[in-house]
Order: sequence, then structure tokens, then C-alpha cells
Amino acid sequence: MFIDTHCHIHDQEFFNNEDAIIALGGAKDNDVNQLICIGTSLEDSKRAVRFSGLNKGCYATVGIHPHEALKLGESGIQSHLGQLDKIAGDDTVVGVGECGFDFFYNNEGDSLSLQERLLRGQIDIAIKHNLPLSFHVRDAFEQFWRVFDEYKGVEGVLHSFTDNEVNLTKALQRGLYIGINGISTFTKHEWQRDLFKSVSLESIVLETDAPFLTPVPRRGTINTPENVIYITRFLADLRGEESDLIAKVTTANAKKLFKI
Ligand SMILES: [Zn+2]
Repeated sequence: MFIDTHCHIHDQEFFNNEDAIIALGGAKDNDVNQLICIGTSLEDSKRAVRFSGLNKGCYATVGIHPHEALKLGESGIQSHLGQLDKIAGDDTVVGVGECGFDFFYNNEGDSLSLQERLLRGQIDIAIKHNLPLSFHVRDAFEQFWRVFDEYKGVEGVLHSFTDNEVNLTKALQRGLYIGINGISTFTKHEWQRDLFKSVSLESIVLETDAPFLTPVPRRGTINTPENVIYITRFLADLRGEESDLIAKVTTANAKKLFKI
């Protein structure tokens, strides 16, 4: 059995109700029996919680993506974090995020300080509710480690990790899991594939990030959680390991991290 540790099928911008149910059925047919629906804003987190409450095998995280920081501003961040804290106690919630830093798309003006405020607030919520975090970090690891290292006992996953060996090593030293998705199947960078090959299985969780980042051989279609099987097959080939072993170990990792 597989777990998709990072998807957005609750997000009605991409999946209407019918599509979401079809995606869920496809996942179950392919032995992807548990999915984690990742919140990216306050409203989206509420949807993730609602969707997970209605659908067996689905769990939610509540989080606000760093892309939201500049839009929300200081007062918006404060009020949204307050409301996020309230829904973090829901039974379906297994984590906080996705949260972090993204300087690839957002590096102007007050973005750094606002993203930092937003990240710190979510780490506080995770600690308070004893939840792991799903981190989104893009082109911003220096800032991320500076903040992360101020906290003790924070557990989580670096979702969609594509950074270099130095930051991979830092993540592993800190006990973070590495979220591997379809990028592994289509990246043009040999060094990235080498990293996906070298990470110990004990530190990997699988994810699709559906509807984005569709793996080979489904490129050109909307990504759905069942495509975790193609990521697994690709990793099996790349790493010279049995698919069954990858499924077994990464599922155990995900269960341990998200306590599901
Ligand atoms: Zn995502």
C-alpha cells in the first residue's frame, strides 16, 4: 500500500467534487489508500479539513503557503494564523503546512520578513498541537535553516525537495524527511537524480503534489494521487530496489511522521 503525503485534490480550483471523487477512486484502485490533503491558505485549509472529514483515508494539513505572505500583510497574517490555530485541532488534521520560504517567485519588498513571520507562526502552531510540518522551501535554504534551527524537536518533511547535496545533508542531520514526487521522473539534471538515488529509503516519503508535477509516463495530464505508483516504479529502477520495498518503507515513514 502507498500513501500520497502531499496532494491538493480538495482544491476546487483544480478538482470539482466529481473529479475529486474519481481521483480518490483511482487512488484506491491502485492501492494508494491514504492521502494527505495539504492546505495552502486559510480558506484552502478549511476545504482540506472538510474534504478529509467526508472521505475515508483522507487527512488534512492546515497551512498558509509563503506565496500568500505579501498579499496578507502583517495584520492579515496575524488574523489568519489565529484562525489556523483553531482548525489545527480538528480530528482530520495530521500536520501543519505547507509553509516555508519561496524566493523563486517572491523576493520583492517586505516579502522576506512577512514570509518569516508566517513560517514562525505555523511552527508555533505545530509545536502547540504536537503536529509535524510540511515545508515548502525554494531558493531560500539559508533563511530557512536560520529559522528552523531556533526551534527544538520540530518534525517534518521537505516537500518536493530538489535542492543540492549540502541542504540534503543538513535536512537529514535534522531528522527531516525528504518528499519525492514526479520531478524525479522528468528532471533534466543528472545531479538531482543522483540525490534521489542516494537518500536512504528510511528518510523518503512519496508525494504527487497533484494536480501539479505529473510524473512520466503521464506527462500532459492532470496529476492525481494514483500516480504515486509511477514515482515508485521510477525510483525502483533508479535505485535498483524492489517497488514493494520502496512502498513498504516509505509508507511506514509516512505513518510514523503523520501518526496515521
Ligand atoms: Zn503542494
